[in-house]
Amino acid sequence: MTEHTKTDGMPGMDMPVVAEAGGSAFGKAPPRNERMSTAKVECNACPVLCQISDGRTGACDRYANREGVLVRVDPVVLLRREIAGEAPKLVPFDRPAAEKTEAAEAGTPDWNGDLLHADEVFVTGVGSSTTYPDYKPAPFIVASKARGVDMVTVVTEGIFSYCSFKVKIDTDRFLGSEQANVRYRGEVVGHVTTAEYGSQMLSLGGVHHLTGGSKKEGRMTAELMQLLGNKKAVECTIDGGSTLVIQAGKAPIVNGVEEQRMRVGCGSAAVGIFARQFAGVADEVVVVDDHITGVLTEHQAGRCLDMAPSGIQMLGRKSTPGRYFQVANPGNGWGGTDIADPLSIIEGWEEGVARPGLRLLMTSTTGEHAQWYVLDEALKPVEQEMPAEVKRIVDRIGENCEPSLCTVLFLGGAGGSLRAGVTENPVLLTRAIKRALVNVTCGGAPAYVWPGGGITVMADVMRMPDNSFGTVPTPAIVAPIEFSMRQSDYQALGGHMEHIFSLEQALARGAWQEDGAPLARQWLAMDDANPWPLGHAPMLG
Ligand code: SF4
Repeated sequence: MTEHTKTDGMPGMDMPVVAEAGGSAFGKAPPRNERMSTAKVECNACPVLCQISDGRTGACDRYANREGVLVRVDPVVLLRREIAGEAPKLVPFDRPAAEKTEAAEAGTPDWNGDLLHADEVFVTGVGSSTTYPDYKPAPFIVASKARGVDMVTVVTEGIFSYCSFKVKIDTDRFLGSEQANVRYRGEVVGHVTTAEYGSQMLSLGGVHHLTGGSKKEGRMTAELMQLLGNKKAVECTIDGGSTLVIQAGKAPIVNGVEEQRMRVGCGSAAVGIFARQFAGVADEVVVVDDHITGVLTEHQAGRCLDMAPSGIQMLGRKSTPGRYFQVANPGNGWGGTDIADPLSIIEGWEEGVARPGLRLLMTSTTGEHAQWYVLDEALKPVEQEMPAEVKRIVDRIGENCEPSLCTVLFLGGAGGSLRAGVTENPVLLTRAIKRALVNVTCGGAPAYVWPGGGITVMADVMRMPDNSFGTVPTPAIVAPIEFSMRQSDYQALGGHMEHIFSLEQALARGAWQEDGAPLARQWLAMDDANPWPLGHAPMLG
C-alpha cells in the first residue's frame, strides 16, 4: 500500500480509534448455531445471519467469506468534485483481507495533503457496509473540513423496511384506474395513485408488499425496487390497464409504444395559451383531453377575444364555459382518451348559430393528433388540408411539450433504529435535522425531509450513484444514507465522538469495524446537479 501524505485532519485523530473499538467495545456475537462449521463465518450485517463458507457470498451477494474474514464485497463509493483522468477508479484499503483481492488496483497516491482544505471528498453510504445490530456506531463517522469548519459525516447503508418508490410517468395516456394494482412478474407490488399535471403516478413497493403478503410477493417487490432504484428497466402490468416499461430518466413505454411528449397542459390550458394565435385563423378550436377538453369560442379566452359562438355542441359533462369533463373514456387515443375519430365527441351544431364554411381545428394536448375541418352546407365537418398558419400553431403546441420521462423517487423512513448508529439519543438527531443543523443525503444526492415526525426522506435515484440499492431477504431494501453536520453539533446531539476518524483514515483504512468492512474505495465524480453535501442545509419540507 502506498504511503499517503499526512493531512492536519482533526486534532487528536491520528490514532487508529478503529482498531480499539473494533476489538473490544463492539465485538462480534458468538454464532447462533454452535454446530456451525468453523470454516464458515456468520454474517451479522442484517437479521438473516447467513452462515457463509469460504469463498462464497451470503444470500444478498453483498457480503462474502474471504479466508475466514467477513467482507463487504462492493467498494465504498467516494465522491469527488473532479476526478483527474489518471486517478485510479478503484483503490484497495490498507487492511489484510484487501491485499488478497485482485479487483483493486495497487494505486499511486490518489489524493494529496491539501485535500481537507480543498473540501474535495465526500464518503457516501454506497458500499459502506452496515453495523447491525443497531447499537453499534455507523461504519464511517468521518471528520473533514468545509470552508475551514470542522465537520462530521455519519455514513451507513440503511436497511429500510419502510420504503417505496414514487414514480411519475409523463403521459396523458390511460395507464390504469386510480387504486388499480400494479403487478411485477404476476405479483402485486403497488398501485396507481392520484394523477398529477400531465403525469400519471404510481406508488411501488412499500412495507405491506415487502412483508405483509406472501413470500413471493415480498421477493418480487424487493426485486422490482432494487431494479428501479438502480435505474434499470422493469416491465409492469396494471390491472384493467396498460403494460408499462419504467426506467428512471427514460421515456415510458406504454403497450409497446415509447411515449414522446408530455402534454402542454390540459385542454383548457392549451386553449388559453394559444387563443390569441388561433383567433383569426380558425373559427373554432377544440383541444381534446381526457381531463378537460377545451372549446375556444365558449372559453373565457375566446370571449375576451370577441370570438363569435360557433354553435358546437359537445358530448361530456360541462364544467364551466368552454371546459368539458368526460368527453370520452380514458385510453391511448387522442389526448389520453379512447377516441380515434375526434368528431365522435361532437354531439351536433346549433342551427342558426353554426354556419357553412366555419373553420374548425381539433387537436390533442400534445399536437400529435390534429385535423382541420370546414363545415359544409349541411353543417357537417369535412376534413381538409390544414393551412400552413394553423399547422404552425399545432407545431408550436408540440414544441412546448417537454420530453416524456419516468421519474423515480426513493422514499424511505430513516427515523428508526439506524439513528442509533449516529447517536446514543436518537431523538436529538431527528430534532437536529428539523432545526436544519444536519444535512441528509442519499449517496451524496440531496434528500427532501418530510415535515412532521420521524425522518422520512425522499431522493431522486437519478442523482444517486449507479447501483446504490441492494436488498436483503428479510425482505428489505438497502440504501445509502449520510448525515453531515458541524462537529460541535454532532457532540451536542450525543454522537459517537470516540468513533470519529479523520478523512485521511477513512481513505486509508475504510470502515472502523473488522467484520464485514469494504475492502476498496471507488472514486466517482459528484453529479453536477447536486450541491456539495458538506456545509449545506437539509432540504426541509
Ligand atoms: S443477507 Fe446479506 S447482509 Fe444479511 S446476513 Fe446474509 S450476507 Fe449478511
